[in-house]
Amino acid sequence: MSDRLAGALGKVRRTAAPRRSRNILLLSTIAAIAAVVGISVVGGLAVDRMDDAAAVRIWEDRLAIGQLRRAVVDADDALLAYVLTSRTEFMNAFYLAEKPLEHYDPAAVTRLLPAAEGAPPTAEMLTILREGWQIAIDLVRDDRPADAVTALRTAHVHEMHGNLRRTMDSATERLQSTDLARIARSNAWKTVLRAMTLGGMLAGGCVLVAAFRRIGQAISHGEAAGAQIEQLFVMGDMLQSAVDLNDTNAVLRAAAVRLMPGLSGALYVFNNSRDRLDLSTRWGHEGAGPCDHMAPTACWALKRGKPHLNDDGEAALRCAHSESGLITLDIPMTARGQLHGLLAIAADGPNARQRLEAAQPIATAIADAMSLALSNAALRDQLRNQALKDSLTGLYNRRFLEEVHERLCLDSVRRGSSIGLVMLDLDHFKRLNDTFGHGAGDVVLREVATTILACIRHSDIACRYGGEELLVLLPDCDLDIAAGKAEQIRQRIASLTFAGGISVTASFGVAALPDSSSGPAALLADADAALYRAKTGGRDRVMRAPSRAAQDALPLVLPEAA
Ligand code: GH3
Ligand code: MG
Ligand code: MG
Repeated sequence: MSDRLAGALGKVRRTAAPRRSRNILLLSTIAAIAAVVGISVVGGLAVDRMDDAAAVRIWEDRLAIGQLRRAVVDADDALLAYVLTSRTEFMNAFYLAEKPLEHYDPAAVTRLLPAAEGAPPTAEMLTILREGWQIAIDLVRDDRPADAVTALRTAHVHEMHGNLRRTMDSATERLQSTDLARIARSNAWKTVLRAMTLGGMLAGGCVLVAAFRRIGQAISHGEAAGAQIEQLFVMGDMLQSAVDLNDTNAVLRAAAVRLMPGLSGALYVFNNSRDRLDLSTRWGHEGAGPCDHMAPTACWALKRGKPHLNDDGEAALRCAHSESGLITLDIPMTARGQLHGLLAIAADGPNARQRLEAAQPIATAIADAMSLALSNAALRDQLRNQALKDSLTGLYNRRFLEEVHERLCLDSVRRGSSIGLVMLDLDHFKRLNDTFGHGAGDVVLREVATTILACIRHSDIACRYGGEELLVLLPDCDLDIAAGKAEQIRQRIASLTFAGGISVTASFGVAALPDSSSGPAALLADADAALYRAKTGGRDRVMRAPSRAAQDALPLVLPEAA
């Protein structure tokens, strides 16, 4: 496989392969979603932990306030009962209830129970309360219960008790509302985080579905690209076995229909003089189809050496050769540094432009393979010409004549036809070379060859037999006609004029099989003999070999058919 075709296949492969940037985008999206889900899960755990700590703190505070409140209320109730009844069991109950108040931490009480505006600090109120209680107890013990009741009133025990209860109740209420706010805040955070998790999971699900679809598409693209590459290999193989342009055209049509379904196309190839491109083959067109010929200057792709899209619309730059009503993609076909032709792919109907753009890589691969085949065919033609033709005159060489001479003679005899042979030699050519130089001699030789070709039929064979000796084989020509053709050529050569006043004449020997000669070898020998007579007879003349009838008709001497 050539580097060129390998490159083209690479293009098809690259086009079908999933884009790396898209994969990076997909991976970053998945990473972002994973980060969102991760943050929301970790955030959820953190919020739970902080929430638990805050709840425990509030619960502990509420518990502490509750214990303090119960101690104050129970102790105060027990003390009042003791003052009123003087019964010692109430005294015991008092001490039991008041016990927690013995070891309270004033700083903790101040933090838990900040005093209301205008009221003394809570710790101070507790101290006043407890001192009032102690005074009342002492008075009851001194058997002065009535004074104890008065002392309770004057020591502001009831007032402090009321203050403390209110402070504790409002602290409890505050803690309650703090707890409610905490619950609300925590719920709000949890809702946000749950929404984030849910959103992330949903987005992740969507992205995963998209990723699986992308993978599926990539696999089917890959399979389609594999099939295309397989077809291109087959096309390359077939093109290598193609012997002429008809073969390459047939391979192109078959491959194009398979690889670019729904698109029509045409192949243009340069003519021999390379001033025009001729339509070589076409496929899929309906109606008039592509034009038969075009000038290289009529195509932007050829002028720029790059593919050109003939889009529709007023602003589009369209080639002069492009079919009206169709969007076409023109791809110039170059190989080994030479432009060989043009591949024009056309589309109509919906999405014509998009379909052509999608088909461009495969069309380019096909164009590359075809240009290589055309280049190979041109190279083969060149080599064949070099082997069979004379480089100075462009006439066939002696080797070619020897190859076809016998075959043409046998074929002619088999058909019951005549074949004429005209042998000519330029007169005094050595003198011409000596006088005007070899360059001038070459020009004369070339011009004589062109004159001969202008006088004969396409099926006749003109060759340079050697030096300035030329020969024309004329199938289906008897001796008279061959002699007439020789005379015509003689006159044309004699009338040629060259720069520097050079002129030239030629002497001719004519023979024909079976009119004058008995076989292929005799045909050459008889023409040569006649030419010799023309030279010795004064040159610039046509001499014919004597007819066989005049020589008592010797039998034909034909070689075995190959
Ligand atoms: P005659 O009329 O008897 O044929 O004389 P002549 O001079 O043509 O014949 P001769 O055989 O003596 O000389 C042939 C000359 O043709 C000699 C050679 O230099 C010349 N010649 C052969 N091939 C070429 C060629 O390719 N180019 C040029 N310029 N001259 C050639
Ligand atoms: Mg000569
Ligand atoms: Mg000669």
